[in-house]
Amino acid sequence: MNPVAVVGLEIHARIQTGRKLFCGCPVREEAPPNSTVCPVCMGYPGTLPVPDRQAAALAIDLALALHMTIHRNWQFVRKNYFYPDLPKGYQITMMDHPVATGGFLQWHRQGRAGKTRLRRLHLEEDAARLIHDEPFCPDSMTLIDFNRCGMPLLELVTEPETLDVGQVDDMLHYYQALLRTLKISDADMEKGHLRIDVNVSLPDFGSSHENAPVEIKNVNSFHMIRKAIQAEIHRQRTLKPVRGRVHRETRRYNPVTDVSEHLRFKESLSDYRYFPEPDLPGIEISESFITSRKNRLPDPPETRFKWLAEELCLKKDYAEFLSMHPPVFDRFCSIFQCDADPREAAHYVMQTERMLQARFPEKPMPEPSAIARVLNAVIRGIITRKAAAEVCVKSVESNGSPDHIFEEYRDAPQITDDTLKTLVESVMSGFADELAAYQSGKRGLFGFFMGRILAAAPDSIDPVRVKAVLERYISSNN
Ligand SMILES: [Zn+2]
Repeated sequence: MNPVAVVGLEIHARIQTGRKLFCGCPVREEAPPNSTVCPVCMGYPGTLPVPDRQAAALAIDLALALHMTIHRNWQFVRKNYFYPDLPKGYQITMMDHPVATGGFLQWHRQGRAGKTRLRRLHLEEDAARLIHDEPFCPDSMTLIDFNRCGMPLLELVTEPETLDVGQVDDMLHYYQALLRTLKISDADMEKGHLRIDVNVSLPDFGSSHENAPVEIKNVNSFHMIRKAIQAEIHRQRTLKPVRGRVHRETRRYNPVTDVSEHLRFKESLSDYRYFPEPDLPGIEISESFITSRKNRLPDPPETRFKWLAEELCLKKDYAEFLSMHPPVFDRFCSIFQCDADPREAAHYVMQTERMLQARFPEKPMPEPSAIARVLNAVIRGIITRKAAAEVCVKSVESNGSPDHIFEEYRDAPQITDDTLKTLVESVMSGFADELAAYQSGKRGLFGFFMGRILAAAPDSIDPVRVKAVLERYISSNN
């Protein structure tokens, strides 16, 4: 059973506007260190920040998708602290007048579902990257890359709730899929585009935020979040938790030792001396701006799942995968819109095309309309699914059109009825026990027999013919 704790999350997502939040410097991952900087993001005296409209638009999109109350007046504030990753000596963030408050995240994953209540959503700038453990770093030195300084972040804070580790995991996976679906962030944890701080306390302490005192930073993968929460629950339990014995503190999870380590005792809010950013007036958000964003918002993964599973009658695991992977979903839609059968289209994008992309990463994939024609030939029994996959492989390999290669398969000589009968008999002779099980009621084995025969038959064979011969064989052996 998964261990349970009172968990509150602070989730930072790098939003993909392509530029920094207050200066317009480009956001480029591959840029050499300290090359995408300017006097504003370097914190030179006398410079003035100018907020980015696109960042505000994406913040509203996310607030709408999370059913939050969007505030009409935003105010940026200065959060003062001294650290080398912030040349200004303060971070521009939001405090009492954030983007939105309240709302909830309705998540589902692999048949499980839940609803996480939310506290607030705000925009803020990122700090520089400190580098101390790269091979090129001289001993006992820290290097600073200011490229990250000023990049736009959206921070979502959840209400602390009693959750088990599996629920936290499901909720975060769904949130990642949501950010990708709405095209707000690529939410890539390995690149640090989704960073999570976890507040943990034991359920015996109650569920208020004040009683979730231990914050764990530096958890940068889903696996590490699970491990960090488990390790922290264990640590707090062994403290014989009497109220007051667990200190408010910030800890860091160490995956090597599987324990969290003390970093510092938690600052209280007043330590940061928050005050309104004097260089930025309050921002007023108009109703019409919110409406315009609402009208162009894509469906969330939950709605996509329902459409795929209930209206298109796809298998649940197919619907789940497509709804959680927006690029695969988009590809599915483009093929489906060319009148392809939805089940064949889903099978194609999840199996054949993923294999094609792995084998030919540099090559373009076939046109959706050409794929739809090949898949419809499968439905009509003109070629097998296996042959359809081969048509696609050959067309990508030769940069040709699937239609042209498809003709070769269609014209392949068909085997005679007698040959087919012999083939069925020879394959089935190897499955006498399975046939007996089928005869005694295990009807699901029919698909297994079909699969074995099709694998042994030429690719051009019509499955409808195989099915008829197999049915005759089974009834004559009853
Ligand atoms: Zn800049």
